[in-house]
Amino acid sequence: MTHRIPAVRILATGGTIAGAAPSPSDTSGYRAGALPVAALLAALPPQDDVRLDARQLASLDSKDALPEFWQMLARELAQAQADPDVDGVVLTHGTDTLEETAWFLHLTLALAKPLVLTGAMRPATAASADGPMNLLQAVQVAACPQAARHGVLAVLNGQIHHARHLRKAHTHRVDAFDSGEAGPAGFIQDGYVGWFWPPRPCAPRFAPDTPLAPVDILFDYPGISVSMVDAVLRGGTRGLVWAGYGNGSISGRIEPLLREAGRQSLAIVRATRGGAGRVGLPGTCGFIQAAGLDPYKARIALMLALGAGTPPGALQTLFDTLSYE
Ligand code: ASP
Repeated sequence: MTHRIPAVRILATGGTIAGAAPSPSDTSGYRAGALPVAALLAALPPQDDVRLDARQLASLDSKDALPEFWQMLARELAQAQADPDVDGVVLTHGTDTLEETAWFLHLTLALAKPLVLTGAMRPATAASADGPMNLLQAVQVAACPQAARHGVLAVLNGQIHHARHLRKAHTHRVDAFDSGEAGPAGFIQDGYVGWFWPPRPCAPRFAPDTPLAPVDILFDYPGISVSMVDAVLRGGTRGLVWAGYGNGSISGRIEPLLREAGRQSLAIVRATRGGAGRVGLPGTCGFIQAAGLDPYKARIALMLALGAGTPPGALQTLFDTLSYE
């Protein structure tokens, strides 16, 4: 019986992993997305146990990614998932909004094969660039069939993260990503893939072409401007994620505005600016609780839920389920 070598497709979108700076000592003054995917491939050691093919989807600094970009990726990735010549997919991406893209894809894609996002904190031209090892390890995880049973994953700095928990938590270190209190999903070392978590249910909650409703995020702080909040509420948004204090508390000067907006059929989700922990206040008086989702993930869930026409009465259950699935 012949053993088929796994085929991994690399889809490139730009970011620092494809960044170029004038000098190898420069890790900040570079242009993201400057190099083509062929240059990323050329930096990998020869691969005997995986077949690679690569395509350039975009050359973006991910700070400029828009929701339409997520939808374009979902279409491309659905095609790659359906391609019989592909066993796993790696998506290279800027690190600034990698967590948003990973979460959107997790919520919208049916995964039959591994999907692994990766990026880099140092440009490709840097001495000791982290991109080549991140890409190599992402390919190794994407070639591992069990990875498909963990939902959308990110591989950075030798760690494997679930899209559900992934967050960028540092401005410049190569270990910039973590999974908060949940901890990483696993690790990769010298090609060995180890899991800390068992496989998890990963049925998509929404169709990839679900329209995305406009939703804003506002953070609370002492002295927050009432007129600024009012302007956002009247600015055409269909929902608001309120990143409140601690357990989702809202400044007393603002709370009546949010209650009124909720009565006027805006979906108001109460999250925390605190960085960790569940938001779940008793007696919530019309607010939806983000439960375990941070404000950025809560926003994307709400954009999809409102775009899909989820009834208001079903939103809390959705947030509770997404938090702890
Ligand atoms: N601004 C870059 C980006 O997100 C940062 C990076 O990739 O590390 O595309």
